[in-house]
Amino acid sequence: TGVITLPPFEGPGQTADGHRIVLGANVGAPRDIRRAVERGAEGVGLFRTEFCFLDRTREPSVDDQVAAYREVFAAFVGSRVVVRTLDAGSDKPLPFLTSDDEPNPALGVRGYRTSRRDPEVLDAQLRAIARAADAEQADAWVMAPMIATVAEATEFVARARAAGNRTVGVMIETPAAAFVADELCAVVDFVSIGTNDLSQYTMAADRMSGELAHLADPWQPAVLRAIRLIGEAGTRSGTPVGVCGEAAADPALAPVLVGLGVTSLSMAARAITAVGAIVSSATLAQCRTAAEAACAATDPAAARAAAREALAT
Ligand code: PEP
Ligand code: MG
Repeated sequence: TGVITLPPFEGPGQTADGHRIVLGANVGAPRDIRRAVERGAEGVGLFRTEFCFLDRTREPSVDDQVAAYREVFAAFVGSRVVVRTLDAGSDKPLPFLTSDDEPNPALGVRGYRTSRRDPEVLDAQLRAIARAADAEQADAWVMAPMIATVAEATEFVARARAAGNRTVGVMIETPAAAFVADELCAVVDFVSIGTNDLSQYTMAADRMSGELAHLADPWQPAVLRAIRLIGEAGTRSGTPVGVCGEAAADPALAPVLVGLGVTSLSMAARAITAVGAIVSSATLAQCRTAAEAACAATDPAAARAAAREALAT
């Protein structure tokens, strides 16, 4: 009640002057698959595979994983499905993989970092993803969360390819990764910006804290400038740059992200129609003007106002 449901998105996503922006859905639970299909998503831009692992005391078998991944691939035949490897730790603890006695879990052993301790969990998952993709003839893109160095990205790419995955990338959700975006783009097929964590780590403000929500805000000019670094690196190298954090679902922010060099947006399915409509109402040049204006602002409210004004002209 009170929720306005717009008609399903009729793609493809593009700016007013035909610059292609892929608009995918985030899938974090089985019910999200149907929602994404119903809302007209162009594939899946973030498949959070944790749902296959949560509520388990032991690692799921490769066969169980293959079955779970096949379900998602089967719903999106012919479309890209970006699968994120397990992002355990911090806000997503897993009893068999992460410890609960870290003093600072957000800065601890989470995401890709868990694979130093337990490499076989990641390698088994990478094999399961490749098997499921082959079985469904899926356009599967595989990426690792919580990457901070080029060495981690290089190692992940080698492991993912050794397991049989063809298109391999990393998430950029730490400032460290943003600063070395050029070098990351040289070793991966694509990058995807996790704006929830990138905002948290750039602003040193817990993403779960309501009291700090004004800081952990993707409209913060510092966060926008971090995204700009990544967008520029992607444009220079021809590397696809996605955004899959909550920021992609903000219709006011979407044109700014496009102007910063982002080539795909992935969001909760219900946001796709509104985001698609606003992206198609602005030219790439207008998006770039809005992006520069927002980056030059000194606070989130001014950034919003500057972007809105740039898009109205
Ligand atoms: C993010 O950090 O923006 C992201 C997409 O990943 P998660 O929210 O699952 O950490
Ligand atoms: Mg994240």
